[in-house]
Amino acid sequence: MKTKNIEKVVKPGTPHFVGDGFRVHNFIPGTSTMKRMDPFIMMDYNSKYNFPPTDIPKGVGVHPHRGFETVTIAYKGRVEHGDSAGGGGIIGEGDVQWMTAASGVLHKEFHETEWSKTGGEFQMVQLWVNLPAKDKMSSPKYQAISNADIKKVILADDAGEVEVIAGEYQGNKGAASTFSPINMLNLKLKKGAKTTLSFPKHYTTGLLMVEGDAKLNDNTNVPQDHFVLFSNDGENFTIEALDDAVILVLSGEPINEPIAAHGPFVMNTQEELIQAFQDFNTGKFGYLED
Ligand code: MN
Repeated sequence: MKTKNIEKVVKPGTPHFVGDGFRVHNFIPGTSTMKRMDPFIMMDYNSKYNFPPTDIPKGVGVHPHRGFETVTIAYKGRVEHGDSAGGGGIIGEGDVQWMTAASGVLHKEFHETEWSKTGGEFQMVQLWVNLPAKDKMSSPKYQAISNADIKKVILADDAGEVEVIAGEYQGNKGAASTFSPINMLNLKLKKGAKTTLSFPKHYTTGLLMVEGDAKLNDNTNVPQDHFVLFSNDGENFTIEALDDAVILVLSGEPINEPIAAHGPFVMNTQEELIQAFQDFNTGKFGYLED
C-alpha cells in the first residue's frame, strides 16, 4: 500500500451568509471544481460562530433542490428541516440529516425554535453528494440519523473513536444508505494519538479539521477549520492529533458522469437543467409552507 499524499491544504476563506442562519466558508467547489471533487459537489462549513438569542429563528427559507443529496452534520447547535416530500426533523449535536432531493423537493432549514431563544455556539457542515444519472429522478427520501444510531468503533490504545456515518470502517457499516460508494467518518482522536486510514487510490478523498490541529503523513500540520484534499497516488495516510481532535473524513468513488449545475440543480445536461427550472416554476416540486 502506498501513501496517499496531500494535494492541497485549503484555509477557510472569507465567510458568507446563507440566508441569515448559516455563516459558512465554502470549501467545495471553492478552490477546486465539482469534477475534481466528484461525488462531493458542494461543501459549506459553518465554523464555530456565536448566534445571539432571538425569538425569530434564523435560517434559509423555501428553496428547491434536484439531482443530488444534501447532508447536514451538526457539531454545535440545533437545526430544524422540512421538505415538500414530508421529510423533516430536528438535528442536534452529533446528529446527521441525509436528504435525498433526487427528482426534486422544496426545502427549508432553520435554527430550532427553542435553541434560537438562547442562541449560542453553532457549528455545522452541509455537503451536497451527487447522484448517478440513473438515480437523479428517483423519489425523494429522508434519513434522520441520530448520534445514537451511528456506529462507534473504539480505537486501540485509548486513541479515540470513529463514528461511521456512511460507508465502512474496518468492516463496520455506516448508518446512512448511499447511491454510490461513499465513506463518511467522524474521527475523534485524542491528543498525541496517531492512526492510519486507507481508501482506494481512485476515490476522491479529503478531510475537514473540525476541532483541533493535526499532523498528516508525518510531514504536514493542518490547523483547525482547514480542509485537506488528497492526491490519487496511493491508499494510506496517517493522522496524528496535536490536540483532542475531531476530523470529518470523506472518501467517495467518482461517479464520472457529465455535470451540469446551476444554483440548486445539479444534472448531467443543459437540457435537464432547463427542465428543472421549468418544473420548479410550474409547481412540480410540490408545496412547502414558509
Ligand atoms: Mn437546502
